[in-house]
Amino acid sequence: MEDHLHKRDHTGVQDFVLLEDYKNPDAFIENLRKRFQEDLIYTYIGPVLVSVNPYHELDIYNSDIINSYKNVNFYELPPHVFAIADASYRSMRGENRDQCILISGESGAGKTEASKKILHYIAASSTHSKDVERVKDRLLESNPLLEAFGNAKTTRNDNSSRFGKYMDIQFDYKGAPVGGHILNYLLEKSRVIHQANGERNFHIFYQMLIGSTPINLKNLKLTSDPDKYFYLNQGDSSTLQTMDDQANWRAVQHSLDVLDFTQQEQKALFAIVASVLHLGNIDFESEETTDHAKVTSATNVDIISELLGCKDDSLLSALQNRTIEAKGEKLKSPLTVDQALYARDALAKGIYDRLFSWIVHKINDSLSNRARSKCSLMGLLDIYGFEIFQVNCFEQFCINYCNEKLQQLFIELTLKSEQEEYQREGIQWEPVQYFNNKIICDLIESKPLGIVSVMDEECLRPGDTTDQTFLDKLSEIIGKHPHFICHSVADNTTRKTIQRDEFRLLHYAGDVTYNIKGFLDKNNDLLFRDLKEAMSETSNLITSQCFPKEELMSKKRPDTAATQFKNSLAQLMVILMSKEPSYVRCIKPNDYKRARHFDEKIVNHQVKYLGLMENLRVRRAGFAYRRPYEVFLKRYKSLCPATWPNYPGDPKVGVQTLVSYLQYEENDYRMGKTKLFIRFPRVLFATEDAFQHR
Ligand code: ADP
Ligand code: MG
Repeated sequence: MEDHLHKRDHTGVQDFVLLEDYKNPDAFIENLRKRFQEDLIYTYIGPVLVSVNPYHELDIYNSDIINSYKNVNFYELPPHVFAIADASYRSMRGENRDQCILISGESGAGKTEASKKILHYIAASSTHSKDVERVKDRLLESNPLLEAFGNAKTTRNDNSSRFGKYMDIQFDYKGAPVGGHILNYLLEKSRVIHQANGERNFHIFYQMLIGSTPINLKNLKLTSDPDKYFYLNQGDSSTLQTMDDQANWRAVQHSLDVLDFTQQEQKALFAIVASVLHLGNIDFESEETTDHAKVTSATNVDIISELLGCKDDSLLSALQNRTIEAKGEKLKSPLTVDQALYARDALAKGIYDRLFSWIVHKINDSLSNRARSKCSLMGLLDIYGFEIFQVNCFEQFCINYCNEKLQQLFIELTLKSEQEEYQREGIQWEPVQYFNNKIICDLIESKPLGIVSVMDEECLRPGDTTDQTFLDKLSEIIGKHPHFICHSVADNTTRKTIQRDEFRLLHYAGDVTYNIKGFLDKNNDLLFRDLKEAMSETSNLITSQCFPKEELMSKKRPDTAATQFKNSLAQLMVILMSKEPSYVRCIKPNDYKRARHFDEKIVNHQVKYLGLMENLRVRRAGFAYRRPYEVFLKRYKSLCPATWPNYPGDPKVGVQTLVSYLQYEENDYRMGKTKLFIRFPRVLFATEDAFQHR
């Protein structure tokens, strides 16, 4: 078996720790570029896999390749996502430790593809039996379904996941998958009602219109033309070359069947999807003498009422009025046109968001481990990467907060595992200096003075609170924080770069300026009670479950959107902390989804955001190279007469003999219990060169 150190000329180094100029980002990028040019999209930083999206199909995922990675040591084959999957799987089995694979990177970088490849690898390499096949099928089938409902075309990615996903695969003691469980995070529900130019709504809408039979469309009162629907025509981009909506529709049907959605449930499901489209086409006008909103035509409301089985005209009433309780009395207060449009959109978002969670719930039922035996877990996290747009809103704030948390976890766990390995091997640990982003996590989430708390406070405070009063509060309370800047606290030069309705966070991955417009509204996430009530009374078996009566009875105010997200992230951290992590860091080579095109500037940004240089520095601050004694001896024994052709005794002693003979300096290496640690790559290069020219 070839050691991966071999090829390091025109194809660069396969592990960044071997890069001589390791502190230089240009050298880093150059190495990525060289490899990318040769379709070598994977490179390691020690145990971390860096992957660059090739944007074209590579023949490196076939069953021969899968087989070649089975049970092979990590460093003996070229870097590959299969190697990560295999190492993780073996560690789970061999050491009986729960695993997780954390996949990060910006939109379009290849996260979802990587997670699918890992799933396929696991499915292909574990044992076969009828029950196991059933579970594998379902695990794999959960993807097309979730992608149909949770992915959309954005300007960055034709198939962009608009939700975060964590999936546990459960294995029995024989290492066979026996079940799974999915957790979903923060669906970008604003997309249901609005899409930017060149973008689409979630795939399922188009799939349903293109794929349904005429008779089904008729039953749902739909036409097959997406441009007829306000919720679909705003992005002016309903068709997509790279996406076969019709084929995907069939895939969704198949997934629904495999995942045990009953015919009745499927019917209810698409009645809801259709209802959302009809909702978007409801329009309002002012009554002549008052400013009360009235629907311009009742047709769409009637259709929805029929599709969802609403009680009488409860929906119509809830779209035009809201009930206000004053002094124990209930009063119907008519809405203005603006309020009615807001309520309509809130309902569409609310229904879709809850439908999505319901689908995840159903999938989980279908994936649940029937045997309920004790199992080991391998988790896959496919979650949105750090985002900086021209204008950054509440959504980017949440996403970037999530990435701060993951970075925190990454720091703690990589440093911890380095430390543990040194301890295990009996080598003195030398602490590494690094930037700890805990200070930014605290800035966002601490109570009562973190940004989320201040925002919640502002949402609850009676009186005229606005996004601007929220910003004023922030500036008053945390204006002095070293990672926070807004107009009123900025110094003269910085002030020119920041508007009065913005604040800036100095994230670990870079500075992001957030526009506060919509923060309170999105955090409040208000859906008028009348609409919830109308939904809870529907005969559609899904909407009635999604809007339970108990929610209406509860006096407790629901948590705000940011707090819910914060809590779910905290839970996720607990889950991930309890597992042994592996990392896949995905990079997008250009902004045009184009093959063979490597844009250095864009890659440079991502290398920075992903903290890869820091990662490499930490790795290099310790020992660049470490190998079990047997492995090192086997490769280099020919370089020393005392170890050639074979060293009969303890391989550790053999290696000691060998490195002494090669005149390694005292500071260049350490002898651990089972492994040799080499501090500098140049030492290893010299040895490797000697080996090549022997
Ligand atoms: P992300 O989940 O990070 O937003 P995706 O995984 O959806 O990105 O990848 C975006 C697109 O890039 C995919 O639809 C596919 O066309 C292409 N792509 C990603 N990874 C690979 C790969 N390993 N090989 C070939 N094409 C890929
Ligand atoms: Mg994705």
